[in-house]
Amino acid sequence: MSQFTSYEVRDNIAVITLNSPPVNGLGLGLRAAIMDGFDQATADEKVQAIVVASAGKLFCGGADISEFGSDKAMTSPTLPEVCNTLEESAKPIVAALNGMALGGGCELALACDYRIALPAVKIGLPEVNLGILPGAGGTQRMPRLAGAQLALEMITSGKPVGAKKMLAAGVIDRIHEGEGSILDAAVQYAQELLDTNAPVRSCAQMSVDTSELPENFFAEFRKSIARRTRGFYAPERCIQCVEAACELPLHEGLAKEGELFRECMNTSQARAQQHLFFAERAATKIPGVDPKTPLRDVKKVAIIGSGTMGGGIAMNFVNVGIPTVILDLNAEALERGLGVIRTNYEISAKKGRLSEAQVEERMNLLQATTEYSEIGDVDLVIEAVFENMDIKKKVFQTLDEVCKPGAILATNTSTLDVDEIASVTARPQDVIGLHFFSPANVMRLLEIVRGGKTADDALLTTIKMAQAIGKVPVVAGVCWGFIGNRILEPYGREAARLILEGATPAQIDKVLYDFGLAMGLPSMIDLAGIDVGYLTRQGNQEAFYGRDPGYAAICDKLHELGRFGQKTGRGFYIYEGRDKKEDPEVISLAETLAAEQSITRREISDQEVLERTIYMLINEGAQVLEDGIAYRSSDIDTVYCNGYGFPGHRGGPMQYADEIGLDTVVNALNKYRDQLGAYGEEWFKPAPLLEKLAAEGKTFKEFTA
Ligand code: NAD
Repeated sequence: MSQFTSYEVRDNIAVITLNSPPVNGLGLGLRAAIMDGFDQATADEKVQAIVVASAGKLFCGGADISEFGSDKAMTSPTLPEVCNTLEESAKPIVAALNGMALGGGCELALACDYRIALPAVKIGLPEVNLGILPGAGGTQRMPRLAGAQLALEMITSGKPVGAKKMLAAGVIDRIHEGEGSILDAAVQYAQELLDTNAPVRSCAQMSVDTSELPENFFAEFRKSIARRTRGFYAPERCIQCVEAACELPLHEGLAKEGELFRECMNTSQARAQQHLFFAERAATKIPGVDPKTPLRDVKKVAIIGSGTMGGGIAMNFVNVGIPTVILDLNAEALERGLGVIRTNYEISAKKGRLSEAQVEERMNLLQATTEYSEIGDVDLVIEAVFENMDIKKKVFQTLDEVCKPGAILATNTSTLDVDEIASVTARPQDVIGLHFFSPANVMRLLEIVRGGKTADDALLTTIKMAQAIGKVPVVAGVCWGFIGNRILEPYGREAARLILEGATPAQIDKVLYDFGLAMGLPSMIDLAGIDVGYLTRQGNQEAFYGRDPGYAAICDKLHELGRFGQKTGRGFYIYEGRDKKEDPEVISLAETLAAEQSITRREISDQEVLERTIYMLINEGAQVLEDGIAYRSSDIDTVYCNGYGFPGHRGGPMQYADEIGLDTVVNALNKYRDQLGAYGEEWFKPAPLLEKLAAEGKTFKEFTA
């Protein structure tokens, strides 16, 4: 009857089937079609009950977020109007949940009177991840059906919940496990409801049962999520909505929800989080590469090096059932590597996330060897040996000799030239960088480094493989440090310099933490290891010390003193167990170094700390874009928010710059360039692309290479 739904009447039951691929996104067309179907069913005297079903894989993926910010989202029938209309129906409505019901899809189901679902169905309200809250009654109806505790958890975490738990909570009324389709079962259920004179069940007639809630329930809940939601605006508004659900009748609660929804929608956070949502999807599209290119198979993998990274990388593959061979120099290294993997799995088992059988299953998928002859049959090799070009070249020469034709040969290097590594093989088209982040079994980011000669099918295969192991892939070009570490470098440089000029490590940490980063730079360097940064600088001396003899002087001094950070108990801070203390000696060292370099120490404002660090990410990000190392500014944001602890509510450095205005960044860079003399002249030139876009009044988002 419409391009978005179909309508039929089976005896006395009308069936409205959502049919708007790919996910039944609740755009204006689908919303209007649901209303048409409902009106038809209401007007038809023969119809006594209504079933809302789906022809797709999902029941409904939610609002059509491409409509956000456009008139369409607000055009009648809006989603709240659709839900309220269904709820007020005099004829009972059954939602037939064949698949996921998310966001607006969940709200649509909650507005029905009864819900029947397949056992694998999940229901969720993920709006908080987009910086908003469920605005079509989800925050009012979910607590009435599921209770305040579960509703709060779902709404503030955005995590979907399985059918069984939803049945126990009273959100789902029946699970269809038997033969026959869910649609037939839903029609039969509707008939049973009619036969037993079951009432329509409007949430307007229900109140949230608060009798069992402990005193201070909401205050305690706020405390319990404070760390996870630090700096985010929407979670608190979600809680306020659920409080309203506990206190107010439905229509008043819905009005409150609408008010708070609009408040969230108009924030820079909502724009930032929605930007990241689209950014992740855009990152898999590579300009000039046909997405239909046939892919290579990845059925067996080898990892070279069983250290910190190799072990974590291997876990990603065995977690999804892919047999993985780990190769290292000797039996001791292998034993140590496998031991760490086993310990990791056993910790998961203790926490109840894995069964003992699963631990064994995964360990059994791992094979350890010191012989290259045993990896001749693998489809993908990931090298994770020491960060040293000569060693890596030797490994790749050997891989070229032993691996089967068409095998993808990847390096996990953090900074080295992937093309140079590829050049020692006779198959540079098969060589690529796969830059995992530590801990590799946990961190979601995977930077895929596309070499000058990397074949399109090798590139697309690794993107798909990344998704299969639950990573967020972003493709970068070849340069020192790729996207992430290249941009990190000037940010780190400024933090080190600020300490010489008079800022303390604790001040820098606080400014960056308060901005929303997971941790400030001095703490991050202490965690990663001051020795690691030192080695990286040694590998690129000309680019750093050649331009500035005082480059990273404080870090090099700490390195010289054997203060490698947390691992040695001392770095920028002193570590005693879990405690970390400021160290006056770092300040004395900074004073000496500053005197040596004729740097006048002064009080540095928090604003200066923020601008000189964060704006460096932005400036280098602009250069990375201009150099074609990243395809789009949103790729840089995806890298930073998934791999470097940049706050999601800022949407990444480039989105942040777009939000505050590129001219703001240019002006600040020019200000410091003037203030900081020769140092400013060397490092504070705005990137040409940044200057150009700012002059044109444009954003990074508008830039396409
Ligand atoms: P690591 O020192 O923990 O492990 C290296 C392993 O490689 C050791 O087990 C060593 O025995 C083995 N090895 C060395 N030479 C070998 C050879 N010729 N053949 C086989 N095995 C050999 O190092 P790591 O921290 O795991 O780093 C590995 C790579 O990953 C480096 O290129 C590094 O830059 C990169 N990386 C590290 C991190 C990190 O945070 N540690 C993050 C991203 C990328």
